[in-house]
Amino acid sequence: MEKPETPITEDKERTPVSNFIRNIIDADLESGKHNFIITRFPPEPNGFLHIGHAKSICLNFGLARDYDGICHLRFDDTNPAKEELLYVQSIMEDVKWLGFDWGDKLFYASDYFEKLYEYAEILIQDGKAYVCDLCVEEIAEYRGTLTEPGKNSPYRERSVTENLSLFRGMRDGLYPEGSRSLRAKIDMASPNLNMRDPVIYRIKMTEHHRTGDKWMIYPMYDYTHPLSDALEMITHSVCTLEFEDHRPLYDWFLDNLPVPSNPRQIEFARLNLSYTMMSKRLLLELVESGVVDNWDDPRMPTLAGMRRRGIPPAAIRDFADRIGVAKANSVVDYELLQFCVREELNKTAQRVMAVLDPIPLTIENYPADQVEELDADNNPEDPSAGKRKVPFGRELLVEREDISLDPPKGWFRLAPGKEVRLKHAYYITLTRVEQDADGNITRLFATYDPDSRGGWSQDGRKVKGTIHWVSAPHAIPITARLYDHLFTLADFSKMEEGKTFHDYINPDSLTVPPTAMAEPSLAQAQKGDSFQFLRLGYFTADYDHLPDKPVFNRVTGLRDTWSRKAGRKG
Ligand code: ATP
Ligand code: MG
Repeated sequence: MEKPETPITEDKERTPVSNFIRNIIDADLESGKHNFIITRFPPEPNGFLHIGHAKSICLNFGLARDYDGICHLRFDDTNPAKEELLYVQSIMEDVKWLGFDWGDKLFYASDYFEKLYEYAEILIQDGKAYVCDLCVEEIAEYRGTLTEPGKNSPYRERSVTENLSLFRGMRDGLYPEGSRSLRAKIDMASPNLNMRDPVIYRIKMTEHHRTGDKWMIYPMYDYTHPLSDALEMITHSVCTLEFEDHRPLYDWFLDNLPVPSNPRQIEFARLNLSYTMMSKRLLLELVESGVVDNWDDPRMPTLAGMRRRGIPPAAIRDFADRIGVAKANSVVDYELLQFCVREELNKTAQRVMAVLDPIPLTIENYPADQVEELDADNNPEDPSAGKRKVPFGRELLVEREDISLDPPKGWFRLAPGKEVRLKHAYYITLTRVEQDADGNITRLFATYDPDSRGGWSQDGRKVKGTIHWVSAPHAIPITARLYDHLFTLADFSKMEEGKTFHDYINPDSLTVPPTAMAEPSLAQAQKGDSFQFLRLGYFTADYDHLPDKPVFNRVTGLRDTWSRKAGRKG
């Protein structure tokens, strides 16, 4: 077969890390079994894509990119479901956002319904499929268990003619749902339960978003998948580990039907991420029960949620590369994803100053009517990002967390009599504080060293602590949404018996400090723009951000959040 032209992706310059799937592909190309590869990403349009799907997307599209092959996007829409259209659209949007392009290789399993039906008649004609009148419960009962063989269905020996006529009757809607099914005639004593005469067609009187009311029978996933792969000439059909036991059935359909190609199924371990639940069905439950606002809530592990939160697609691709592909299931630490996010945003995000929990600070020896415009780097990692001006004056706001009246050892931030650097500005020394009746600090007073403009003293005197600030009269109020894990449980495989994920919802997954203030340049931020709020983390302007009502999502904290909390670093 000639390789058709199709675009794939960016990130061409990366060096792929080898893994067992690449080894298989290398061998297949080497031996001449294939001249090029075709992979596919086959989502079922029954929900939004999550970070687990991103692993599969990066893997399948990544293989096609690195081997100069093709990756198909195929909607596995054999199970007519509600809202399919919304999900189809969101999935296409998310795959594109991740940076991958299927070109004209967009397919739907439902496009093959006619062909799959023909194949089913071939199986019947060859005596390899029969119409069974057992109901779902009876089929399960007859199937046996892992230790006991199954029993043959009493309908197993129907004649080809009878089977054909009944199957056509099923197609024509003559029988009610659940009354009959078409089953592959394989082996009820097989040690593999999937091979015990699996159902391949069921009656379902539901409209399909693409085929309308044309079909009253729908093919099962295990039947549809290998045949769709074969019809699309997929060379390597990569799927998750739970399909390993289905592989003999996958191969059985290919071996027993006149299909145009012979794809190979390869299984890899699915991604599990700590504190994260990744099943579309359960994510839908979170949406429907109002635990989160919607599929794109920034706390959701969906790609739509991550996009809104401000996670760059390049960080997710990097994450997928770093976790690699393996055969053993494991739980990846959420910290790794955050690390990748910081790596990316560190390169691109403009630095700004904001104060989440402000407390007023007056510089008593600074002229009351004076305002200076100080130079501030937009990104020390990227000199081409330039500089901006930040206003400085006598009345400032600083972070409550940065003050200690009784500083522990190694405290380098504000404390009585201690000198610290105000970022981009001057050295200041805290002289006195005002407290309310309960002892809460309400106001700070300091003096500054006029010879330390820009944050460096003329006499070479060093200070260890640097803190952020904003000018009180110039600062703008902002809404800063701070996120934590949606769940309190790190590993969902360790869920206590009798509990559901509802028992592990983190009540503090979203907090919004009531009086956050930011430097005035943030009034120019556009929806989706990302910033590093110095010492506070990376923030992205949310979808509901407006110039006169700025709203930012914290994407992630900074690397040194821990040491800062421990008070060790300024
Ligand atoms: P869910 O349980 O979330 O609905 P699924 O496997 O049913 O997941 P599909 O739409 O069928 O979802 O998945 C499309 C592709 O994404 C499949 O090839 C599947 O194996 C892969 N996939 C789904 N979840 C993960 C995951 N956590 N890690 C890696 N790949 C995944
Ligand atoms: Mg599924």
